[in-house]
Amino acid sequence: MRTHESAQVLPTLPDGSDWPMHIVDGAPALLAYLDHEQRFRYANQTHRAWLGLDPRRLLGRRLIEVVGQRNHRLASAALEQAYAGQPASYEGELYDGRKRRYAHGNFQPDFDAEGRVRGVFTALVDITERRTLELQLHESEQRFFGAFQHAAIGMTLIHPDGHFLRVNAAVCQMLGYREEELLALDIAAITHPDDLPADRELLRQLLAGQRESYQLEKRNFHQSGRVVHSQISMSLVRDEHGTPLYFVAQVQDISQRKAFEEALHRERELAEVTLRSIGDAVITTDPQLHITSLNPIAEAMTGWHGAEALGRPIEDIFQLFDAQRGQAVANPLRAAIEHNTIVDLAGKTLLRHRHGFDTPVEDSSAPIHDHAGNVIGGVLVFHDVSETRALALKMIHLTQHDTLTGLPNRSQLHAHIEQALAAAVRRQQRAALLYLDIDHFKHVNDLYGHANGDRVLREIVAQIRHCLPGDELLSRYDGDAFVLVLPHLESAGDAASLAQTLLARLAQLRLGNLPELALRVSIGISVYPDDALEAELLLQNAETALYAAKAQGQHGYRFFTASMHERAHARRQIEMALRQALARDELSLHYQPKVDAGSGAIVGAEALLRWHAEGRERYAPNQFIPVAEDSGLILPIGAWVLRQACHQARTWQQQGHALPVSVNVSPLQFQHADFYRWLDEVLDESGLDPGLLELELTERMVMSGGDATTGLLRRIRQRGVRLSLDDFGTGYCSLSYLTHFPIDALKIDRAFVRDVTTDADTATITRAIIAMARNLQKQVIAEGVETAEQGDFLRRAGCSQLQGFLYGEPMPAAALERRLGAAGRTR
Ligand code: C2E
Ligand code: MG
Ligand code: MG
Repeated sequence: MRTHESAQVLPTLPDGSDWPMHIVDGAPALLAYLDHEQRFRYANQTHRAWLGLDPRRLLGRRLIEVVGQRNHRLASAALEQAYAGQPASYEGELYDGRKRRYAHGNFQPDFDAEGRVRGVFTALVDITERRTLELQLHESEQRFFGAFQHAAIGMTLIHPDGHFLRVNAAVCQMLGYREEELLALDIAAITHPDDLPADRELLRQLLAGQRESYQLEKRNFHQSGRVVHSQISMSLVRDEHGTPLYFVAQVQDISQRKAFEEALHRERELAEVTLRSIGDAVITTDPQLHITSLNPIAEAMTGWHGAEALGRPIEDIFQLFDAQRGQAVANPLRAAIEHNTIVDLAGKTLLRHRHGFDTPVEDSSAPIHDHAGNVIGGVLVFHDVSETRALALKMIHLTQHDTLTGLPNRSQLHAHIEQALAAAVRRQQRAALLYLDIDHFKHVNDLYGHANGDRVLREIVAQIRHCLPGDELLSRYDGDAFVLVLPHLESAGDAASLAQTLLARLAQLRLGNLPELALRVSIGISVYPDDALEAELLLQNAETALYAAKAQGQHGYRFFTASMHERAHARRQIEMALRQALARDELSLHYQPKVDAGSGAIVGAEALLRWHAEGRERYAPNQFIPVAEDSGLILPIGAWVLRQACHQARTWQQQGHALPVSVNVSPLQFQHADFYRWLDEVLDESGLDPGLLELELTERMVMSGGDATTGLLRRIRQRGVRLSLDDFGTGYCSLSYLTHFPIDALKIDRAFVRDVTTDADTATITRAIIAMARNLQKQVIAEGVETAEQGDFLRRAGCSQLQGFLYGEPMPAAALERRLGAAGRTR
């Protein structure tokens, strides 16, 4: 019906036919015809539905009445153009009577026979949905790029070939470039070369689809050349076909975090070094009082190894008793943590060692706080307040310092180097070690005597000191070797110029009454962090450089270079040769006599290992025994030594010389589960009277072992074998604990013996050690006796046996037999 109405008002088609009204009506577009007065003559069904109007109210009405002034105004320009005879289009808002829509319109003029515009065809398409999507897309793009550009974090879009497509303000600022400068660069140009391969590999994996994204910490370069530590988070955007479009990278500057981390690490290192070298025992716990650490002194005083103690409640490790009544005392750290305060216990309390013996202690407990003031753990600091403690402290000082020059000795060097390295890291500077050795110093001793030799050494130290401007650390490493630690160095050149100054000064050294000395000195230099990062390796490298300097000719210095790896090489060579030494029969035992301090008669012998090949000594024990220990070769070698020494002692016994023989046992051997069985077998097999065998152990082996060690010592003792502590005074000096270990004898270390006649402190302490050991019913032997004065002193101080070059150097068994025979004849 409507179709019929409409058909009447529409002009006929050019071929005279009527419009195919059913198609026009159902078309998706809004179609209408307006006559020359802008009155609706036709509107298709879509149009009528869109306007929501009754068709009767539509036809014949003017456009402006139907669509309202507002819509009319919006489209008026295009309409006017069409009425002026020009096809026109309009795109924009329109109101369908209810809500705002968005439409695209085409206005086509309809001309009469004379060419006058008699009406206008209007075709409108409602593009509201499409338009909304477009707007949303635009908006989200805007939002993305706004976020991208102004993000606080650095953001870049990177082409698959690595160059930058877009960079935001933050990344420009972080790296110090302007946007266009950065866009001319690629990833490689701003990445530290050492970090590039890892980055490249991860990018490759992204492109290959092996991963979705990655995170990486790497070093970028600031435009100024400075390193910017960055945290990168990278992902890849692909198009709908999966072709890579670009990488999206988020870049965060973590330099500050890195700096904090490094500072923290350094602090920790420093704290660690301090804790290890401090004279007091220190235990730390978590807030629940479970052990988190023990320093070496705490290990020795409690008998617990750090690793074993870890995580145990404090009461298992640190047990206190009242000195008078013997009752258990509540753990002070518990109170300290509970009340968040420091608790001191002054004396009157006894610490019970794991093996049951008590030591009077003084302790102080305190909670540990985090920066917000929360308790995050506790620390317990304590020390032995027995009388032997004072003596022990003096002994420690003596063992750590060289009495001739007053310099710290090699036992202190490691801690010194560690401290210097920590300082260098803190100041971001270099550090250096100068290893200085006087060539052929022995000649000075030989020519002018030991007393003058000592004076020369003291003068050398004075001259070196004179050349040092500040806080350099000088220590005496060995007889005529010194190590100088330079904790901050601008450049390696500074170390070189100091070496030159030292060489010049020492060459001119002169002592009043001596003829010209013309000392010749060699110096090896290693630089931190260039040559090594750890103290031990740095020292080894300086030593390697020293040998290179010596090899090069004398009186000069050399820097360490990587090509000087002779030392490591030498160790490998020793190890290789050592593997065959036993089979090739190159190892032998020499025996050094021990004499009775009163009569001078030979009353024992120490078996000392020697390595000879092709008629000469291949390596000295101090060179090859450490290698044997590191490589585990000490086990078969040590077993061989034990068997050999027992057979030798048995032979002497059968010849009528019941001479006790002592054998050095290394820690690795002693800790081996089968040690006792080996010992037992060897004794059975050789038929030796066990009383003629003595084992030389070190303080550390005895002190740091747990129950198992004490048990083993007892069994060895019960088997009738004697035990002695070698090198006494160089370890943790714990005379008070000695009562608790089944030890027969102490061997006072050479370091004390060397100085007894020249240094008053050493003399006093040595006398005290001997007196105390005798009180504990231990026998005292002095080793390394070289002069008659030393022998006299030690005898008067109460040593029962003496050993040293004065009474005989280590010699083959046959040579000792001759001496025994001669002594037998003279007796
Ligand atoms: P040690 O057990 O303290 O042995 C004493 C060292 O001092 C020996 O050095 C000896 O030759 C040396 N000596 C003796 N009298 C004097 C003296 O008057 N003046 C000086 N300056 N030195 C003297 P050696 O034979 O070179 O052995 C060095 C170290 O190697 C020994 O020290 C010992 O710890 C170890 N060692 C030697 N043989 C064995 C062995 O069979 N097994 C194990 N595990 N270690 C051994
Ligand atoms: Mg020994
Ligand atoms: Mg010794």
